[in-house]
Amino acid sequence: MSSSRSDESPVVERHRSKHRDATADVEFGTWIDGELQTQGPKAGVVDPVTGDSIVEVPQGDAATVDAAVGAAWDAFDREWDAATVRERSARLFEWADVLEDHLEELTLLECLDCGKPLSQARGEVEGAIDTLEFYASVCRAQRGSEVPGGEDLHLYTTQEPYGVVGQIVPWNYPLWAAAWKLGPALAAGNACVLKPANDTPLSTVRAAQLSERIFPDGVLNVVPGPGSQVGQAIAEHDDVRKVSFTGSTAVGSGVMRAAADRVAPVTLELGGKSPFIVFPDADLDKVVDAVADGIFYSTGEICDAFSRALVHESIADEFTERFVEKAESYVLGDPLDEKTTMGPLTSQSQFETVTEYIETGKQEAELLCGGGTPDDSELADGWYVEPTVFGGVTNQMTIGREEIFGPVQTIQIFSEYEEAIELANDTQYGLAAGIGTEKTSLVHQTADDLEAGLVYVNEYGPIMPDAPYGGFKQSGHGKDLGLEALDHYQRQKSVYVNLDEPEL
Ligand code: NAD
Repeated sequence: MSSSRSDESPVVERHRSKHRDATADVEFGTWIDGELQTQGPKAGVVDPVTGDSIVEVPQGDAATVDAAVGAAWDAFDREWDAATVRERSARLFEWADVLEDHLEELTLLECLDCGKPLSQARGEVEGAIDTLEFYASVCRAQRGSEVPGGEDLHLYTTQEPYGVVGQIVPWNYPLWAAAWKLGPALAAGNACVLKPANDTPLSTVRAAQLSERIFPDGVLNVVPGPGSQVGQAIAEHDDVRKVSFTGSTAVGSGVMRAAADRVAPVTLELGGKSPFIVFPDADLDKVVDAVADGIFYSTGEICDAFSRALVHESIADEFTERFVEKAESYVLGDPLDEKTTMGPLTSQSQFETVTEYIETGKQEAELLCGGGTPDDSELADGWYVEPTVFGGVTNQMTIGREEIFGPVQTIQIFSEYEEAIELANDTQYGLAAGIGTEKTSLVHQTADDLEAGLVYVNEYGPIMPDAPYGGFKQSGHGKDLGLEALDHYQRQKSVYVNLDEPEL
């Protein structure tokens, strides 16, 4: 990024005009008890393409969280706890419909706020809507069970919500990640207090406003603000009965410690350093694209990024050559331009983190492509880095071990199956892993041997709300998505009804 601002740039002008469009008729604030609150200290939400503030958003604190938790309990006790599952489902469907009506508005906010190319931003907003619809559907199919207890005992199980749950999400998939938390929690009958990431609150704050008069006031609350205040207050709040967190392993373990003081259950979706094993028979027409998509989608700001390509020696040269060619084919540009396939990183601090890792990589390994910022004056104000590939990497190197969370691929070579599995599992993380092969038996054997909560074969994704999503080891525990997430937002109860002898 240049130190001087290129105020005349058409990209800057276009963004400023879109900032005005996106914020003209909308106020962005804290959403508590069905009301927008805009008072108090505010912080600008920065467009990563221009460095301008798009709009200012209030910064909540512990008192705001306390108010949101109070409103959520009031709503739960007043009416939400008594709402039938049919009613909860209908309200979720209604909210999803309203979000669908605002698809392009939410897409634009996500694009401006995160720097995501429009097509990616749109796909993620659609993913959020699909997630809400999934939970609106499946909650109606939930059952309790009857346990055989003998003639004089009617023993059955039910599930019930926790009451008020706290949810904290990161900045890489703002609205999609929020829907992963809100969908199952609301479907299960909880009232929610959710904190979006401070860098990217706009789509979530707006989506909460769009729930007005759909959910009873206080059922859905969104409190933007700094993690150290709002996030910490949610994690520590005595009346938050369950916490679901997505973010870094360091912050997640602190959230878990805070919740442990009151023995509140925690779901953690944390970081990763996910390997993709390219076996000798891999179809490189598919696999090069899969690995590239897995590290360059969303400018590499993806928790399950395939950030370690482990390639068999027999195809290492061909894979590397084709992968570098693919990396160089990404179109860095204005995310508002439909031709753009890679936008900037989302924040200055992420830009600094990623460029520092790239400099470390240059000392440790062989730079095969990228490694800098694009030489395009139109992009000079944005937090852009080139798709970067390093060869000759080992698991002992910093870039082979630590999560970079940017468009940086590391390539390692293996000779034997056991070596590939050992390299793949030799990490503190266990979020995802990929397999490139045409052999069915190798797919199943490898999927079984990999320590990862998600395994993608010959492709990156697609991530569907239907299946559980979550990591092993320090990538977290518990699951988002799937029926499992619905279970995680409910408590099981066993009811023993002791029966008398029947008499007339
Ligand atoms: P982060 O841990 O810094 O922040 C995540 C959220 O926690 C943000 O809302 C932040 O404001 C809040 N927070 C910060 N300090 C807090 C505190 N002391 N107490 C409570 N909350 C606090 O992570 P990030 O930089 O926003 O996101 C990137 C990380 O998230 C990466 O490690 C990535 O792998 C991970 N991630 C994981 C998944 C997954 O599903 N496993 C998905 C997306 C991102």
